[in-house]
Amino acid sequence: MHLMLLGCPGAGKGTQSKFIQEKFHLSQVSTGDMLRAAIRANTPLGQKVKVIMDEGRLVSDDIMIQLVKTRIKEPDCAKGFLLDGFPRTIPQAEALREQDIHLDYIIEINVPDEELIRRLSGRRIHPGSGRVYHLLYHPPKAEGLDDITGEPLVQRPDDSEETIRQRITIYHQQTEPLINYYKQQQELNGTKYRRVSGLGTEEEVRDRIFSILAATAREKESGRSFNR
Ligand code: AMP
Repeated sequence: MHLMLLGCPGAGKGTQSKFIQEKFHLSQVSTGDMLRAAIRANTPLGQKVKVIMDEGRLVSDDIMIQLVKTRIKEPDCAKGFLLDGFPRTIPQAEALREQDIHLDYIIEINVPDEELIRRLSGRRIHPGSGRVYHLLYHPPKAEGLDDITGEPLVQRPDDSEETIRQRITIYHQQTEPLINYYKQQQELNGTKYRRVSGLGTEEEVRDRIFSILAATAREKESGRSFNR
């Protein structure tokens, strides 16, 4: 199964990816996480993208396409993968199509802009594990510290309010056109596009996504027994 989560920064793609990954045993391909790891390791790629990311702009299509092409050839992706944060532009989507990667599902997680700003500006991260907290919605037990390790939490540099607004604008301009792009793909090659509301608890959103994916698993299963 090849799946892609689409949604504005703060819609909950990363959180939902973890749920889907565990249940369906797919490899998660999160381009944001890959770039942040490159920055932490201070690789040439990390040095190139740091300022762009801190300012909330998009990294160039060439860099991103190369990164993902290499990643999805790794053995763990052979059994299926979940794209989180890629494609973000039409040229990136085209590049994926040219690789003959058929996406079974595009799931858009939809959240109004004002709620995204509330979520992102209160978000705090434990850098070592990627655990995510929120000052109001999911505070750590001790202020500013990770629940498990007791290490300090940080705010992502691109989670300042000005940068958040910039990232949301870029999403509407450059990534939202993918919705129509994939609606057309749905007609052409059966890629299914579905939208779920990203409001409510993490578990409520998870169950909305799971019920969509369970329906497909059932279809596949009945197709298989029919063909037997
Ligand atoms: P994310 O964690 O998905 O919100 O990504 C954080 C940042 O990484 C984005 O604001 C971009 O600067 C960069 N980035 C991640 N994925 C892509 C992509 N597919 N195309 C361009 N830039 C990306």
